[in-house]
Amino acid sequence: MGEFELIRRFFQPLAGRSASSSLILGPGDDCAIQRVPDGRDLVFSVDTLVEGVHFPKAYPSDKLAWRALAAAASDLAAMGAEPVCFTLALTLPCADESWLSAFSRGLFQAAEEFGLALAGGDTTRGPLVVTLQVHGVVPKGQGLHRNGAKNGDLVCVSGCLGDAGAALEYLAEPDPTQDMQAVLQRYHQPLPRLALGQQLSGVASAAIDISDGLAADLEHILEASGVGASIRAEAIPLSPALVRLTGDQAVDYALRSGDDYELCVTLPPAGWQALPSDIRQQLSVIGSIEPEPGLRIQGWQGTADQHGFDHFRSMS
Ligand code: ADP
Ligand code: MG
Repeated sequence: MGEFELIRRFFQPLAGRSASSSLILGPGDDCAIQRVPDGRDLVFSVDTLVEGVHFPKAYPSDKLAWRALAAAASDLAAMGAEPVCFTLALTLPCADESWLSAFSRGLFQAAEEFGLALAGGDTTRGPLVVTLQVHGVVPKGQGLHRNGAKNGDLVCVSGCLGDAGAALEYLAEPDPTQDMQAVLQRYHQPLPRLALGQQLSGVASAAIDISDGLAADLEHILEASGVGASIRAEAIPLSPALVRLTGDQAVDYALRSGDDYELCVTLPPAGWQALPSDIRQQLSVIGSIEPEPGLRIQGWQGTADQHGFDHFRSMS
């Protein structure tokens, strides 16, 4: 199977599947064309996943496709952006039809779920690497940034944290229990908070998606904003399955391990009060912003500087 047949069979059918009409030209030409409506800013981000680094060797390709697009879409969620389209740069060791058809199926399902149309891509031979660029739009000037947190703002997170990190322990489990299956589902099929991100645009003072662990990602907000924060360990939302599986360690997973793709946002107390209750129900208040730099975690024994995933930390 040649490169062009591969593209025609497995990727062309995914084109133009988004509800959005602003993707004017999809795959098949030298470039794709996206129209940015008046009064909108274009928001875009690229993510690379390398086999053996970001996902395990021999990881099922339908799940890989979903996780890759979810991780990329989560960056749009963190900006409060409405998803529009994406490009896919795929490097493959060989053209394995069953691998490709499962990959294409997983990508198709995720693309439909997140409202992202495939706009184009690039296909090359080499070690397995998946690179996705996602495009979205925000109302002009309304994109959520990391640098807007202010003294007195509340720190909130969506959903439950730590499940995806704990799931790594059970990936090879031949007969997972129901609780293991629940956390594994969070690892295999993360759901980026796209609707919530858009609802918080214009309300949150700062936002980030939790891809490297709550402590590391919240610290990005604190550094960018030139502030500190105090959070309470007991306020960090944990799933019952995670607590049953890991007991006292559940909070460590939430603070230190990544891949949850929930949102961490800051907002002034008045903004919180004014939020509709259905949005507040998706968030937990875990602490507040303070002038003194650094992250303080009340009721937690670990040290705040041993967390998160950093490719180069050990090399410096
Ligand atoms: P060029 O040489 O002009 O860069 P390519 O041969 O790389 O073009 O790609 C031909 C067309 O196929 C382009 O429109 C490109 O966007 C599309 N394409 C290539 N690989 C993929 C892929 N994995 N998924 C979707 N579209 C792809
Ligand atoms: Mg090309």
